[in-house]
Amino acid sequence: MKAFVKKDTCIGCGACTVIANNIFEIGDDGLAEAIAPYSNEELKEREIPEEEKENVIDAAESCPVGAIEVEQ
Ligand code: SF4
Repeated sequence: MKAFVKKDTCIGCGACTVIANNIFEIGDDGLAEAIAPYSNEELKEREIPEEEKENVIDAAESCPVGAIEVEQ
């Protein structure tokens, strides 16, 4: 599974950073992003760890504006 935050869509509500706190955080711009080593650019290429997949799916489904893209 791969996932990333669409910065142009995120409104910075913070929900994903609570649900998948090992993957997402609020950046200096007030918008969500993947934490290192899963920076937004790198996360497009990296596999989500098995133990984080459910949290990432929950975060994507909970995002009020659909800013988290998940590829199975
Ligand atoms: Fe942004 Fe969606 Fe995360 Fe809220 S849940 S911070 S809108 S990506």
